[in-house]
Amino acid sequence: MTQRKVRVRFAPSPTGPLHIGGVRTALYNYLFAKQRNGDFILRIEDTDSQRFVPGAEEYIVEALTWLGLPFDEGVGIGGNYGPYRQSERKEIYKQYVNQLLENDLAYVAFDTPEELELKRTGIANFQYDASTRLQMRNSLTLSGEEVKNLIEKGEKYVVRIKIEPGEDIHVNDLIRGDVIINSSVLDDKVIYKSADGLPTYHLANIVDDHLMEITHVIRGEEWLPSAPLHVLLYRYLGWSDTMPQFAHLPLLLKPEGNGKLSKRDGDRLGFPVFPLEWKDPKSGEISSGYRESGYLPEAVVNFLALLGWNPGNDQEIMCLDELIRLFDLGRCSKSGAKFDYEKGKWFNHAYIQKKENGEIAALFVPVLEKEGITAEFSYIEKVTSLIRERVNFVQEMWGQGAFFFVAPDAYDEKTVKKRWKADSAEQLGELITVLEECEPFESHHTEEVVKTWIENKGYHLGNIMNATRLALVGAPKGPHIFDITETLGKSETISRIRKAIDVLK
Ligand code: GLU
Repeated sequence: MTQRKVRVRFAPSPTGPLHIGGVRTALYNYLFAKQRNGDFILRIEDTDSQRFVPGAEEYIVEALTWLGLPFDEGVGIGGNYGPYRQSERKEIYKQYVNQLLENDLAYVAFDTPEELELKRTGIANFQYDASTRLQMRNSLTLSGEEVKNLIEKGEKYVVRIKIEPGEDIHVNDLIRGDVIINSSVLDDKVIYKSADGLPTYHLANIVDDHLMEITHVIRGEEWLPSAPLHVLLYRYLGWSDTMPQFAHLPLLLKPEGNGKLSKRDGDRLGFPVFPLEWKDPKSGEISSGYRESGYLPEAVVNFLALLGWNPGNDQEIMCLDELIRLFDLGRCSKSGAKFDYEKGKWFNHAYIQKKENGEIAALFVPVLEKEGITAEFSYIEKVTSLIRERVNFVQEMWGQGAFFFVAPDAYDEKTVKKRWKADSAEQLGELITVLEECEPFESHHTEEVVKTWIENKGYHLGNIMNATRLALVGAPKGPHIFDITETLGKSETISRIRKAIDVLK
């Protein structure tokens, strides 16, 4: 067989905001495709009209765009295998439903929800399968004439796949190896509903993967139980030869490691589980997103890549190109990956340090604007270079550097007690004269001039530095003091010292 071009798909159902686990699935698909010069496809699986949520599809597209994981084909951009929204492919599926019926691999069933409920209460562990199907109201128990009449009368029906018991079905999984499940545990799943003329997930998923020439199905572990049915569907439809390879990714676990990560864990521990903020269209409830919480998309991508995979050494910081180069499904773990939120912050810190200073400064601008601050961009850049090391999030730069934009109007009381000495006012008064004459006002030079003056006078270096910091910042914090004076400039530095003397003397 000639090698097929690698084609993978991310196939979310638009039932709400994309969970962070879904984002990781998209990312692994993307990395896998790009490494092999393949195609990454976005398909929207919206055959369950009951669970459709408006805005969810747009949200998914926006999230992938923000993360920098563009797809090659899919909703919005099209491609040679469209349409990419399953609700627009109704006619396509119908033909395969008919093929399965004609080949006696599926059958029509008329059982009402009430009838099914009655069976469930009557028979322990009732399952619609080979052991029960002949007790039900379907095309296996009714005559052809009766079936025809019922359909013509408009009675609602479903089509069920016919599964023969007692066969070991092999799912060859790239992460889990040969997974064997006996067909006896499977039920005759509904693959089509006349009520809305739509196939269910299982049939639509297989038909589309086949028609879209998907070569690898990389998806969450929760779909592993469906895989044997999918293997059978490929066989029933005569497509076993081109069946994609499966890879079921490990679950994302709660930070404590017990059970699946949920939105509630995020609420409880204060971290987002969605890439972007989401407003529930029904309840109006808002769920926080990584983007709005100040994460850089590169940091989120790097963090997620390592939840379930590692490069085989302890390298942690990897940009997207490196991830594409190194990613390997064979190195994905079978067991769940603990969601270590603190590590996420660490990644964000690391990526802030990696970025060009100007880029971080640009992200700082809207934070400043929210505080009512406008300033020259070159000044913002300078401040950014001094405080970026100290933050995990750009928003925190305001807390670290507000004093660069507004002079302190009060002085931290505890610090005043401890650091403003009896002779501070007099000494800072002298310092003003020294600074007035200091030229250039550049950090190193000022430091040298001031230290020489302190030495000549026999003053206490620490005391003067502490008092000066209090005057300039209002609190015992901030970067190197002479970087502060350089940034503030001579006149602002002197005016702040003068004010502190006035207020505190
Ligand atoms: N529509 C399924 C989901 O929402 C896709 C599962 C698959 O990738 O086959 O996750």
